[in-house]
Amino acid sequence: MKAAMYYDRGDIRIEDVDSNSMGQSDVLIQVDSTGICGSDLHEYAAGPIFAPGESPHPLSGETTPIRMGHEFSGVIKEIGNHVSHLEIEDKVAINPILCCGSCRQCIKGDYHICDSIGFIGLSGGSGGFAETVVLDAEHVVPLGDKIPIEYGAFVEPLSVGLHAVRRSNLHVGDTVAVFGSGPIGLAVIQCAKAAGASNVIVSEPRSARRQKAIECGADEIIDPSAVDAPDHIQSQTNGGCDISFEVAGVEASFKDAIASTAPGGHTTIVSIWEEEVRSQLNNLVLGERTVTGSLAYLGGPRAQEEYGMVIKMMEHGVLDPEPFITDRIKLDDIVKLGFEKLLDPKSEHVKILVKPN
Ligand SMILES: [Zn+2]
Ligand SMILES: [Zn+2]
Repeated sequence: MKAAMYYDRGDIRIEDVDSNSMGQSDVLIQVDSTGICGSDLHEYAAGPIFAPGESPHPLSGETTPIRMGHEFSGVIKEIGNHVSHLEIEDKVAINPILCCGSCRQCIKGDYHICDSIGFIGLSGGSGGFAETVVLDAEHVVPLGDKIPIEYGAFVEPLSVGLHAVRRSNLHVGDTVAVFGSGPIGLAVIQCAKAAGASNVIVSEPRSARRQKAIECGADEIIDPSAVDAPDHIQSQTNGGCDISFEVAGVEASFKDAIASTAPGGHTTIVSIWEEEVRSQLNNLVLGERTVTGSLAYLGGPRAQEEYGMVIKMMEHGVLDPEPFITDRIKLDDIVKLGFEKLLDPKSEHVKILVKPN
């Protein structure tokens, strides 16, 4: 069975590996589609970050190399004796969250902020850049038959966008600014529109991504290298937007995201940061603005929560991953036609799906 193994930054190899052995609570899944995520790119360009490196991850117990890929869908081909909520040939999406189940947050059901948080395909486990995976059935969420199985690879990133919007204090009719329209930015745009935003302005330097923002429902796009984003947003929103999202992970957009909000406004940070940022905190104090962090999505073992919401919203056409997809490639081409293309600053790609079978 072929799988993409993450060894270290700049070092991902396609190898022939054994399929993991099946336990009684496991299922074997033939992978259909796996998205290459911004986190995967961080690991390749600057990692190991979430990947364990030389010290074992506390929950997976694994060190690198690990089987990579955490945004994926597939079809169940084998089922362990103790699994009751799934059947052979079910189409499924994978919830990759690894949590300890016993820390303060896990006891409250906030698995996504577990002290030992990890993700299958980033921290160890049976990652989705592989022909098949063996996973505990607790990680497996039925997709039903109403949406294409390929869309199952988008339940994870769309859930990240949904969670950010649910954290953001957005109310129907609010004005919104989104800084960055990569895959998670696009997910935030679609979810903000679904939540009733009246005007979504998107700031994104890459023209291909600005175009995608329009396809995902943005009302206006701006190029922050050509206009002063906070000035422009203030002029379009009667003195500042109600809600902003930082989805770019750079200091300039962090500052712009706060400066674009009206007094009393809320900014939600969705990016993972490689560096520290500096900011004038009087921008928060003098206007009573709020900044919130948002990580992953609600729902741990078996609990579908935001995963279930995203699947329903896709069924009803409220969320649509189609504009995200810019290529579909074979597993063997993952580095050259996947990682390298997405890391090229001139690239027009947004989401590349790997098709291992
Ligand atoms: Zn991801
Ligand atoms: Zn925990």
